[in-house]
Amino acid sequence: MISLEDAQHYVRQWLAPLAPVELAPAESLGCVVADDLVALEAVPGFVNSAMDGYALRSSDTRNGPVQLTVVGSILAGEVAATTVDAGEAMRIMTGAPLPDGADCVCMIEEVEVDPGGTQVSIGRVVEPGECIRRPGDDVQVGQLLARRGVELGPAQVGVLSGQGYATVSVHPRPRVGVLSTGHELADASAPMRPGQIRDSNRPMLLALLRRSGFVPVDLGTAEDQPDAITERFGAGLESCDAIISTGGVSVGDADHVKGVIGALCGDRARSMQVAIKPGKPFAFGVAGEASTPLFGLAGNPVSTYVGFEMLVRPALRLLAGQSTLDRLTVNMVLDTPLARQPDGKLHLVFVVARFLEDGRLHAQSSARRGSHLLNAVADANAIALVPEGTGYGVGEIVRALVLDPEPSSATLDAGT
Ligand code: AMP
Ligand code: MG
Repeated sequence: MISLEDAQHYVRQWLAPLAPVELAPAESLGCVVADDLVALEAVPGFVNSAMDGYALRSSDTRNGPVQLTVVGSILAGEVAATTVDAGEAMRIMTGAPLPDGADCVCMIEEVEVDPGGTQVSIGRVVEPGECIRRPGDDVQVGQLLARRGVELGPAQVGVLSGQGYATVSVHPRPRVGVLSTGHELADASAPMRPGQIRDSNRPMLLALLRRSGFVPVDLGTAEDQPDAITERFGAGLESCDAIISTGGVSVGDADHVKGVIGALCGDRARSMQVAIKPGKPFAFGVAGEASTPLFGLAGNPVSTYVGFEMLVRPALRLLAGQSTLDRLTVNMVLDTPLARQPDGKLHLVFVVARFLEDGRLHAQSSARRGSHLLNAVADANAIALVPEGTGYGVGEIVRALVLDPEPSSATLDAGT
């Protein structure tokens, strides 16, 4: 057996971020910036009104209540045809450029307009600059907007679009092929022969990929035959940046995936027994000139999930150019025991984590545990890391990897 860290290290040594591409800001959500992005334009680009109101000269309001003559009206997107002189005001809507002559805006709620709309009365002093947005308030030309290595979020997509960037240089989201292997597999709605099971892993992995911001590619199912598995990996190599398969990596008579990965990758492949439970058998290699990573995960669904989280997801984040590869791990108070026997492995146990009234994060695990019991962990939002030893009792602190900060509405019941 090799440690999880050694297995992760073996995988990572072959990988590098995917070559940058040019994408429109609107297409770049979740992508990692490949070159520093600086501001091309000031935002706002011109002095404009922050409110619907009246643009005027603040000096006109200095000596108490005043009546001003309305000399026009201006909407956002328009430019005033005249200036605002002493004794005058111009009706102005939010975002419209401030007319020459005016130095402030009095909001509409604070003025009294005569019935004809030609005169407005203002009963207080309006300060110079009031309700006005100045050029560069938000962004100044040359300012750093997103540093290389940063993942673009929705607000940055907005900022970059607001700058007129046609495209930005980012690492693409990896396209990741998924195939399931197994003579016993039937597709979701297909009739089943005796002894067959439905394929859970492939839809689950495709969903995990989507949830993690990668582009999932369905490569279908292969029988437990080297040729069939090789053909599906080959199809994936034509269009994908990485390929994940499930099943066929253990020591059974029909376990051909590790042999296929070995044949496709030569001496750049390794079949491992990783010291984790579940998810021990694991095959990995990089194929072709592009060094496309091929991940062979164990077929039991909980093992597949764990293998994805511990070995695949961090590697795909590396391809995506992310600098943080691993999930956040935090300490949690155990509300159910996590007993185990020493076996030389790190046990990975799905738990439901949530904040309770004491302000601490509490973890609860399903009493039913097994690498084939996917439904028993389906509510979980964290994976507890239970190191070699005899485990933990109630009230003890366990370190856990957070999958989703929000627990699902369903809760695990310790007795079931
Ligand atoms: P294997 O890793 O091929 O030895 O499979 C281990 C166990 O996982 C067996 O019980 C398989 O039937 C089951 N299994 C393999 N692939 C899948 C899959 N795609 N969906 C659900 N169960 C699977
Ligand atoms: Mg199998």
